[in-house]
Amino acid sequence: MSVKMTPPVGKNEYIDVIFEDLTHDGAGVAKVNGYPIFVAQALPEEHATIKIIKVKKNFAFGRLIELHKKSPYRQEAPCTVYKQCGGCQLQHLSYEGQLKAKEKQVRDVMRRIGGLEDVLIHPVLGMEKPWEYRNKAQVPIGDREGGLVAGFYRQGTHEIINMEKCLIQIEANDVLIQAVKAICEKYGVQAYREEQHKGTLRHVMARYGQVTGEIMLVFVTRTEDLPQQQQIIDEIVAQFPNVKSIVQNVNTKRTNVIFGDVTKILYGSEYIYDCIGDIKFAISARSFYQVNPIQTKVLYDKALEYAALSGQEEVIDAYCGIGTISLFLAQKAKKVYGVEIVPEAIEDAKRNAALNGMTNVEFAVGEAETVIPNWYKQGIRADVMVVDPPRKGCDDSLLATIIDMKPKRVVYVSCNPATLARDLRILEDGGFKTREIQPVDMFPQTMHCEAVAVLESV
Ligand code: SAH
Repeated sequence: MSVKMTPPVGKNEYIDVIFEDLTHDGAGVAKVNGYPIFVAQALPEEHATIKIIKVKKNFAFGRLIELHKKSPYRQEAPCTVYKQCGGCQLQHLSYEGQLKAKEKQVRDVMRRIGGLEDVLIHPVLGMEKPWEYRNKAQVPIGDREGGLVAGFYRQGTHEIINMEKCLIQIEANDVLIQAVKAICEKYGVQAYREEQHKGTLRHVMARYGQVTGEIMLVFVTRTEDLPQQQQIIDEIVAQFPNVKSIVQNVNTKRTNVIFGDVTKILYGSEYIYDCIGDIKFAISARSFYQVNPIQTKVLYDKALEYAALSGQEEVIDAYCGIGTISLFLAQKAKKVYGVEIVPEAIEDAKRNAALNGMTNVEFAVGEAETVIPNWYKQGIRADVMVVDPPRKGCDDSLLATIIDMKPKRVVYVSCNPATLARDLRILEDGGFKTREIQPVDMFPQTMHCEAVAVLESV
């Protein structure tokens, strides 16, 4: 027999609540008889009057009307466009509060989803300076009277708001983008107009090599031509000698996807270089490369420590991207096999291995859940398995192969604590024990939470 539950709140009702938690996108959660209400900008421990704005069967949304008791961690968001942008979700929470919230998020899902009651979870490794960390800026370009705007889409819309400075962006990228905007304006480049599918310049991307200081600039255009191209390039290079690569990507489609299929080099090299620790990487316009270089080093060092390599091990690095973790591991392993689904990333991975003179790595294109079971059938056994899947976590058939293969250790790098917890449960049921989990704050001011876990075969 099903019981029809009536939500305990009604639309437009005003109620007083106490917030207990944050959602994964940074909204406060309050409960009325166990029924959750999500309220943007509210923080755990806060007492407030809210107005119910939307009621669903199992939850509701409310708006903050008046705060009666503030969280001790509440702060004024330093960014002037914080609420319009939506790129950051936690600027109204002090950094100490953010780290505590992320630790709690990991603890909660390990208990609730993973059923892991007593696993060792360390406090989050945060940044000394949790600002100006992003090495990549990707900004939409729009029109305004007599010029261009470069910034971000107002949350939930396609309206482009101008932004001169993003507080989580490395300053060099902001300065370059402002200059590029002015130079393009001077030479009469038109912004892409989405509704009419007219105009030229859709996006500008800047990527900065933290260690080398090299910058790549990408113009994403609707048209094959970039008018006055040579003058534009000459001015940029004259003003910014560390711009080592200028690339044009042509995207002729009506789409929200940023990049199109054709990429042309307008100036300099196809790549810029950057280093993480002792390893050098060539990064092309379309490559995935971690956006927070300082914390990437922290994360990879931890993954390497957890792998506990002696030099004798064969290691599989699943979801290897351009081989960043694979090359880190190869410094200490007998052999590393990397697997990744994007063919261009594997080309980059091979080039990066050669660039660092590493011969004990081998890369394959394909789904981790297909390639690794095949390897297993062919007799390849990993002593240590490293996985770094996208948000949805590992595929069941990959987890089943790991359980059959029984590596001594599994190092699981995750960008989503919920799927990490789910997959740890499966591995525990298959004969592994989770030894410890180290969350690393790769994305300060946002709700994103990265963590690395190590499991041993028992
Ligand atoms: N380890 C890399 C990349 C991690 S991001 C780094 O630290 O830089 C996750 C990667 O998994 C992406 O490169 C994505 O293309 C890849 N991927 C997604 N689904 C996959 C699958 N089913 N099999 C293999 N790789 C996949």
